[in-house]
Amino acid sequence: MYDMQCPGCGHRTAMMLIDQTIDELNIKNKIIVGLDVACCSLLIDELRYDAVMCPHGRVLPVCNGIKKVQHDKIVISYMGDGAAYAIGTNEMIHAAHRNDDALCIVTNNGLFAMTGGQIPPSAFDEKAFDIVPLLKNMDIPFLARETLSNRENIYNCRKYMKEMFESYMTNGGFHLLELLSPCPTNNHMSVKENVEYINVTVSKILKCGRFI
Ligand code: SF4
Repeated sequence: MYDMQCPGCGHRTAMMLIDQTIDELNIKNKIIVGLDVACCSLLIDELRYDAVMCPHGRVLPVCNGIKKVQHDKIVISYMGDGAAYAIGTNEMIHAAHRNDDALCIVTNNGLFAMTGGQIPPSAFDEKAFDIVPLLKNMDIPFLARETLSNRENIYNCRKYMKEMFESYMTNGGFHLLELLSPCPTNNHMSVKENVEYINVTVSKILKCGRFI
């Protein structure tokens, strides 16, 4: 599944975890997915759900609009870090500040992948943009980060995802799960090297856990 992605791409793992969570909760018919531009947009042809392609960085306002007119739907805002923490940073912060009903999944690989690996504000270096300090004191119900690296951490991602969906369906409000993700193609690494890099190096720069 999700064969448009390169081998080892975190977007494939993330979307498979989303699929598993939706199947487990038996909510397939309620799902609408908003996808951002860039490599995550390649997922759209294989999604099993209603989906909309959004302007770059504008997934949250598009999904917010959908949710306002389709209250019974579960609206997933799916994006990469270029959308979430570069062009779409304003949208992210204001949606959290307003505690909009949002189910936001950011697959963060620390680069602009589709256009060849350019450096975004979220690049995995000592100045890496960290959304957690900005949001953790806001009045939102869910904020977590985990790595899509070894098996144990991927299980943890799955656990967080289920908790996030259940909280969103019960309470509404702004939910964000960030998944630190390999992009072996633009990191010029093997899949194994990139996974180890995320697991060992990146997880020290951006701390993982459930913060809210
Ligand atoms: S370039 Fe990177 S983010 Fe894009 S599909 Fe390939 S591995 Fe995934």
